Amino acid sequence: GAMAAGEGEPRGGPALLGLVPAAPRCPHGPALLFVKTSQGKEEGRRFYACSACRDRKDCNFFQWEDEKVSESRLAAREEYNRNHQPVFTHRQNVERYKNFVLLPLSKRRFCQECQQLLLPAEWEKHSDHQFLCAISTAQLKSPSQLLYPLENKKTNAQYLFADRSCRFLLELITDLGFRRVLSVGTPRLHEIIQSKASQEEDFRVRSLLLDIDFRYSQFYTEDEFCHYNMFNHYFFGGEGAHETCRKFLHQDNGERVIMVTDPPFGGLVEALASSFKKLMAMWKETEDGGHNSQEMPTFWIFPYFFESRILEFFPSFSMMDYQVDYDNHALYKHGKTGRRQSPVRIFTNLTPSMIVLPMEEGYRFCTICQRYVSSGNQHCEMCNSCTSKDGRQWKHCVLCKKCVKPSWFHCSNCNCCALQNHACEKTDAGCFVCGKAGHKRSTCPSLS
Ligand code: SAH
Ligand code: ZN
Ligand code: ZN
Ligand code: ZN
Ligand code: ZN
Repeated sequence: GAMAAGEGEPRGGPALLGLVPAAPRCPHGPALLFVKTSQGKEEGRRFYACSACRDRKDCNFFQWEDEKVSESRLAAREEYNRNHQPVFTHRQNVERYKNFVLLPLSKRRFCQECQQLLLPAEWEKHSDHQFLCAISTAQLKSPSQLLYPLENKKTNAQYLFADRSCRFLLELITDLGFRRVLSVGTPRLHEIIQSKASQEEDFRVRSLLLDIDFRYSQFYTEDEFCHYNMFNHYFFGGEGAHETCRKFLHQDNGERVIMVTDPPFGGLVEALASSFKKLMAMWKETEDGGHNSQEMPTFWIFPYFFESRILEFFPSFSMMDYQVDYDNHALYKHGKTGRRQSPVRIFTNLTPSMIVLPMEEGYRFCTICQRYVSSGNQHCEMCNSCTSKDGRQWKHCVLCKKCVKPSWFHCSNCNCCALQNHACEKTDAGCFVCGKAGHKRSTCPSLS
């Protein structure tokens, strides 16, 4: 997902307390409870803010936890929330799509300003907008190419998989025998699955997309897309959409389902984890209680420096070495072709040895670790594991008793390894990004 390095919550900024019952609502569903912190300590009043939008320009919802909200303000807020829903409902968009595909090519227009398929009666209203003509069936089947990637830096930034990564993921999923994919914030993966399913008769995989980007409702039916907020597990379509998701997970006794998610990152790992746990619980609710002791198979795609945070919530997960890369992110392309190595990895609760990584890209199998590792990742005999996180060869520090980045040196002042020019300062509160002491978020070595 979104990954402008260092965009995490600044130290001293608010800390997330989470989703609480009866929380007030903004247009994005129940708000999350936060508390102001300073120097890592909770202090001051608690408040509610929008779960989805970190930029107050996008949603300025704010309420002190102990604030008394008058009846009239509550009514105004409800009215506001209603008015800030999309113009068309999903059902309406499905109807519109049906009419759109009946049009001859010459009458198929897409308004680029409104990001909307236009029916001829609406042309007039959009006459001074830029539009695309002759929208083909192929274009309708790849909406992620047609729609502008949302670029809001703080919230909804969309980073679409490069073809290489998207194909790799799909192949991995099919090779592992999965038949259904719950695509949470992965519109491009969803799109190649749906498109293949409509073209190849013997392709059996299906996908349900859960995403906050409502523009996708123009291209998918209510069985293929749910408008969903993954920071508060909120289905905008209400109980009906909830039920669609439940049904999808429970088909074939809940067998051969995998959840794949590529969320925006920005410090709300806990909120994401709590939503994913709810989706996993939904899967578990199958009638015969068949897989009581199991966890729904999951790929959580996220930067490697969040490893400890993710493992905190999902101890069964492990991080794969595969570098996921993106089309529209110049900084994070695959090592071989791009300017920089992507920091984005796959976290999974599947057995690591089953996640076969492409040999032709240099990945190899470590028989001791029983997993595929990147070419530069050497097995360290002291640690007894392949220790590199970023693909470069790491070096073992006997004093720290662990492997560290090649650019680090042991600092006797801090009594740990760090970049040579790090500021030797001891702080109580750990760095926001990696949780380690001795540096601040802005100089976090994991972001270098
Ligand atoms: N790499 C993926 C896209 C990841 S970008 C692909 O190519 O398919 C992150 C995705 O998460 C976007 O599709 C974005 O719309 C979605 N997203 C952002 N915030 C969200 C939220 N609060 N709830 C659900 N989806 C969200
Ligand atoms: Zn909001
Ligand atoms: Zn190894
Ligand atoms: Zn080591
Ligand atoms: Zn050291």
